[in-house]
Amino acid sequence: MTRAALYCRISRDRDGEALGVERQATDTRSLALRRGWTVIEPPYVDNDVSASSGRRRPAYSRLVADIEAGKVGAVVVYRLDRLHRRPIELETFMPLCEKHGVALASVTGDVDLATDGGRLYARIMGAVAASEADATATRQRRKAQETAENGGHHGGPRPYGFEADGLTVSPHEADVIRDATRRILAGQSLRSVTLALNRAGECGVSGKPFQAARLARILLGPRVIGLRAHNGATYPAQWPALISETDQIELRAILRDPARSMPGRPARHLLAGLVRCGHCGAPMKWKGATRRNRASYACMAPPRGCGRILIRADKAEASVIERVIERNFSGRRRVADVLGSPASTEPALPDLAAERGRLDALADAYARGDVTLEQLTRATAAIRERIADTEERIATAAYARAAAAASESLRQRWTELTEDERRTALASLVKSITVQPAAKRPGRPTFDPSRIAIEWPDFDGEE
Ligand SMILES: [Zn+2]
Repeated sequence: MTRAALYCRISRDRDGEALGVERQATDTRSLALRRGWTVIEPPYVDNDVSASSGRRRPAYSRLVADIEAGKVGAVVVYRLDRLHRRPIELETFMPLCEKHGVALASVTGDVDLATDGGRLYARIMGAVAASEADATATRQRRKAQETAENGGHHGGPRPYGFEADGLTVSPHEADVIRDATRRILAGQSLRSVTLALNRAGECGVSGKPFQAARLARILLGPRVIGLRAHNGATYPAQWPALISETDQIELRAILRDPARSMPGRPARHLLAGLVRCGHCGAPMKWKGATRRNRASYACMAPPRGCGRILIRADKAEASVIERVIERNFSGRRRVADVLGSPASTEPALPDLAAERGRLDALADAYARGDVTLEQLTRATAAIRERIADTEERIATAAYARAAAAASESLRQRWTELTEDERRTALASLVKSITVQPAAKRPGRPTFDPSRIAIEWPDFDGEE
């Protein structure tokens, strides 16, 4: 009894349509049964959606092994092109069938591999199928190349910074990209920028928090500088650049610096990426100590900045920290949140018993007829005014004490933070810092904290 192997293959190499494997199995099985063959179950099935790729076909390999082992008397396929992707495969398959006396049947017409005519037919069919697959692949390649050369979007998942069409800029995400670029160029670590983004509730296209490596891929990719990459070449894209190419070159130099890629490496400069020049608006960069100046934050020379503003780094940092902690007074909940230490203090109890006793005594005196209504009214008003005044002073003192205690605990907490945590905390507590030009004064320049203007973010729930 002839044992027939059903071979099915799913591919998209014909008219862009996969011939359903169910249909292939059903049709080949009924053909085998019509011939009176015993079907080897289950069918040999390869899922091979990209026809012309050189990937292995495990079921086909199994089929060849079973033929060699003499387990197969016939092979049934839906159409000849299901069996082979390349003519060369047919050239090894035909002698194998001849050697083991294996018959080949196809639903669309039998091929007798034992005859010259049958083999020629099989070769022609194989060549036609191969050439069709080639043509399809060439067509797809050409189309992809053309799209790339026109700077078009390659499709697929939405790229970060753009809408789903890949061409329209998403204004918010573009801002995130520009802001991250600015901060890294100014000296913040990739890690602290990533942390700050996640704390601000930003997320990637997947909706998950950013990871440093992913953020770096976005910033260093060709897309954000308005280029379309294809096969190692780049073309001007149909979408606009989000950051300049020179910025990206600098970013790449910074981010590929192995010293920076070490996880957990603390950022060096507290205000980097936060402090801007009050003269030209450019970000100020940390500058190491020179013969003439101590370490400072400085506006870069043109064209990046005006190069005119410089402020001592240590004093500017101390001044900003102090003001952030002082600001605790109005935004203490948030500062405490960020620094991870709750600020709680008991409000002082007001002592107004004496004044209240006088009010009672007055009321008694009026009841006894010792004072007139007019006297009572006047005296009561004075006492009430004093009480209100005292209450307000007590409340103010209590608030100040509470705030001072909170400041102390925050100041303490601040000293416990790592460098990187400080920078991350600062980045979320401060919107921006602007340094104004120094006032021209005779004599040695002194540090003037009033040059530093801090813009605070809007916190939810802050009175
Ligand atoms: Zn400047």
